[in-house]
Formats: sequence, C-alpha cells, structure tokens
Amino acid sequence: MPAAPDLSRVLDMLVDAGMIRVGQKQDVLNRGKEQARHLLLDRRAELRRLLGRQRVSYAISEIELIASFRFKRADMDTVLEEEAITEAVALALGYPFVRVDPLKLDFKLVVDAFGGPFAEKHLVIAIADTGGVLTVAVTDPWNTELLGSLAQFKQKPIRPVMAPKFEILRVIAEFHGFRRSMRAAEVELGVELPDISNLEALYKVSGTNELEATDQPVVQAVWYLLNYAHDQRASDIHIEPKREDALVRMRIDGVLHSVHRMPKGVHPAVVSRVKLLARLDIAEKRRPQDGRFKTVFGKEEVELRVSTIPTAFGEKAVIRIFDPSVLKQPLEDLGFFPREHALYESFVRASNGMVLLTGPTGSGKTTTLYSTLHHIASPRVNICTLEDPIEMVHEAFNQMAMQPKIGFTFGTALRNVLRQDPDVIMVGEIRDAETADGAIQAALTGHLVLSTLHTNDAASAVSRLFDLGVYPFLISGALIGVVAQRLVRKVCVHCSTEELLTSEQVDQLRIKGAEGRRLKVRRGKGCVRCRGTGYRGRTGVFEVMKITPRLQRLIQEKAPAQEIKREALNEGMMTLREYAIKKMAKGETTYEEVLAMTDEAMV
Ligand SMILES: [Zn+2]
Repeated sequence: MPAAPDLSRVLDMLVDAGMIRVGQKQDVLNRGKEQARHLLLDRRAELRRLLGRQRVSYAISEIELIASFRFKRADMDTVLEEEAITEAVALALGYPFVRVDPLKLDFKLVVDAFGGPFAEKHLVIAIADTGGVLTVAVTDPWNTELLGSLAQFKQKPIRPVMAPKFEILRVIAEFHGFRRSMRAAEVELGVELPDISNLEALYKVSGTNELEATDQPVVQAVWYLLNYAHDQRASDIHIEPKREDALVRMRIDGVLHSVHRMPKGVHPAVVSRVKLLARLDIAEKRRPQDGRFKTVFGKEEVELRVSTIPTAFGEKAVIRIFDPSVLKQPLEDLGFFPREHALYESFVRASNGMVLLTGPTGSGKTTTLYSTLHHIASPRVNICTLEDPIEMVHEAFNQMAMQPKIGFTFGTALRNVLRQDPDVIMVGEIRDAETADGAIQAALTGHLVLSTLHTNDAASAVSRLFDLGVYPFLISGALIGVVAQRLVRKVCVHCSTEELLTSEQVDQLRIKGAEGRRLKVRRGKGCVRCRGTGYRGRTGVFEVMKITPRLQRLIQEKAPAQEIKREALNEGMMTLREYAIKKMAKGETTYEEVLAMTDEAMV
C-alpha cells in the first residue's frame, strides 16, 4: 500500500504548488495538534446534527486540518479551502479529482451501492457505473486495502477518484438519511405488495388515511424535504408521481432541479402528509385542492402554500415556500445601480401618481413591490394593498384579498379602499379596464398607486393602458414612471474565476464600442455552496422609464411603444439587455444568463 501522505508531505505539496508559503507550513506544524482537537469537537457536533444521532465516529484528515487555518492563498486572492487542497493533493499524487455534485448523482446508485453505515465509515460514494467499472469518490484513493475490498464486495473493478471530504459526507448524510426514512415508510406501508401504485390499493392496505399520513417515517420524510428545500433556498417543491416511482424536484434560483426519487408506494402517503399539514381533504384525490400552512425553520416562521392536482399516475403536489426575508429585503439589495435606484426612489417618494412594475411571472415584481412598500411604510402613511392572493402578510399594511367569485374584484375593491383614506395603494395587478380606470383615478386624486402589468418592457406598459381603454391624457397625467424587471442568476462568489468572452459572444450581445474585442467576466465553476451550478442567488435587472414632459407629450399623442421607447433611450434609459450586460461586465452574472433572460432591444 502506498504510504498515506502525512501532514508534512501534504503541506509540501501545497508549498510546491505555490498555494501557501513556508511560514504557513511551519505554522500548521506548530499549532496543528491543538487545532485538530478543537476541530474534532466541532465536526462531531456537526455530524450529530446532520445524521440525527448521538454516536458518531470521526477522524480529522490532514487536508481538513490545513483548511481550518483559513489561510489566504499565496497565489490567489481567496481563502485556501478544503476543495482546493484536495485538488492539489490529487494532482500531486496523480489521482483524478472530482467535485461531487449532489444534483447530478444517481440517487439509486448512491444508496444501493453501499449501505449508509459502510459509506459513512469508509467515506465512499459510488458516482458512476459504466462499462463494468464502478467509479467511487473517496478521500484516500491511495488506500488499496479499502479499494481491494470494494472490488471484492462489488465483484467488479473499482476506479477511485478523489473528492473533498465534506462533499462526500454531505451526500452520505443527505442520500442515506433520506433513504432510511423512505425505506421505513415502504415497510410500514407494505409497498412490497403488487399493484400498490394504485392509490385505492394503498388506501386499503394502510387501513386508514390517518395512519399513512401521520406515520412517523412519512412525517420524517416530509420534514426532511421541507428542511432540505429551505436549506437550498428553494422556492418550490414538486412531488410528481411517475409510472415507476415519484420524482421530487425543487426550484432553486428559478431553475427546477431533480433532487430525489422516491418509491412509488410511498408517494401517496407523502402527498397525504402534505395535504394534512395544509388542512386539505385527504380522501379527495380527484379534484385539485389548495391550502397553506406555516412551519418554523430555525427561528423563522415560513408560510408554505400547497396545491394538488390529479395526474395520470396519481396526485401531484406543489409546495411553494414564502420566505419572509424576501419581504424584508431592503430596496438597496434588489440589484439597482445608483442612477436607477435614485430614479426609482424619486418615483415612490411622490405623494401622488402611478408607478408601474412590469415583467412576466417570476420576474421579481412582487418582491420589488413588497420591498418598496416596506421602504415607504411609516406610522404617518396609510398603506392599503389589494391582492389576489395575499402573497405575504405584513402588519404595517392594510391588506385585502380579492375574492372574484363573490364579485370582490380589484375594480370594486378600489372604490371601497378610497373611503379608507389611504396614502398609498398597491393593486396586485392591472388586468382589466375597470381596474386600470380605478387605479388611474386613484392616482389622479392624491394617492400614490403602485401596480404591476404583464408586458415585456417599460414602454409597452403605456400601450397596454391604451388597449385597456384609458384616455391618453389621463395616463400622461397620472403616470410617474414604469420599471420593467427580470431576474438573472448571480455568479457564485465561492467558486468564481475570471474568464474572457469570445469576440463572437461580444458581437452577439452587440456591446457598444467593444466590437471584436474580448471582455473580462466571471463564471462559477461549481462548488458545494452552489450545488455545482456555478450560480447562487439572483439579482434584478431593471429598465427604469421616467415619464418626462417629452414622454408625456408622446403619450398624449398616443404614440406607439417603439416611439416612446426611443425617446426614453434618448433621455438615458438603459434597456433590460444593456442593464444585464452591465451586470455581466461587473462579474455579477454570465453571458448565458444575459442571453436567456433579456431580449435584444427592439427600437
Ligand atoms: Zn459555487
């Protein structure tokens, strides 16, 4: 067996790679023992939390010990992390290095290849099974004894690759932890029986509805899913029955990721549990249902909205997670550049008039609206909101939920709310002529009205109001400004590196004054913090159109959107595309995001 590299040797590799200096090496050698003792206590506590039990065994590796010193790298302006050290060691010893991306792993392969306790003890996960060779990620690829017994156990050649220990541990805890809950549920619900995919059959087997949904493993599995989703900053959880099994997908930063597959037989119980939490009718499985419930993550109370629909293979449930921190997000954090921020601030500080936010569903309009209301809320102003439905409850606002079924629509509510002496009125969305009329009237009679529209850009909002039959002179008199918005994914700051756009990419974006040149941008290469996607979080892209006297004149003449846009651009407005390009140039987002989330400006 080749000797495992000891601490001094690993440090030498890092010195040779230019990542640390000789002084830092000496520092680790001097203080290492003491540091390792503290680290062990920390790691054990963390592992107990992850695995949910008291007895854990753990040994500190040389690599994680060095990483715990949090040295600034000698060759780069970043902290020396476990991942970089692992990569350097793999390179020095000639082993392939991988980053373990939980999203790309085959759930079944991971949980079936090795049992949880075994995986945990030897820190091994199976990551690929192709051509008769099993590729395993390990922390010690030099451990021939372990590899030999793996080959014997699996009866096939083993190809070891080296991966960071914390990533391996995380996958083991997540995948096997989930599997344990699921398997217990399977056993308890008797899913070994044939034809159990039929809901009615499961219903009979499990006896009563209550048993299936309140079963401890089912309760745990749902609890796990919710916590996992919150941990990953997911906005939605989809639990989708398929022919063979059920798929759990989560929307993270606007993109759906497949996260788990669960056994077919467990799926109805999990959906029932979710329905039970949301106080829905569990017995009713043929009709769509909606409900909501609250839960606590850490110290934060979070509202979850549940929607179920029947599909060919069973009930599909979607859980939307309303993160209250979104409501508290300061206006400054939404992604405005200083000029646009100042403009928008001037719109919403007006005592009367109308401000419109526009963009498709999921473009962040609601977040901007709430942040704005929060920003202008004070004991001296009466803020009334008309919403369908109420997205987030906040005590500083007087919120009204629309009930179109009983005739309480935006239009009728607007008339009522004016008698409530409001200063600021937020109308969820202008969808019809009655709402448009009412909102404009309110804006013209001394109220600040904020609302949203579904249009692609700022100038089109004006034409939309024309289409809804609002008189041009009323629009020009009421409208203060329009903001079109999109969200782009942010480059993960933990793993981003600099790169150059190709001249083709620069030309594709028609970047002014940069034709044929190459531009410096940033891209995330994928790490555990961004689940290997290279992105973490999203930021707003804005087209802020101030209604100036010139634009007022154009509106009065009922000018087409292109003409209004051209004039706004003349007066210094940035298009969504230009705004996104500026974000890319600052290293905040990528070429792909700019291309995907914004259209080329049509003027
Ligand atoms: Zn990252």
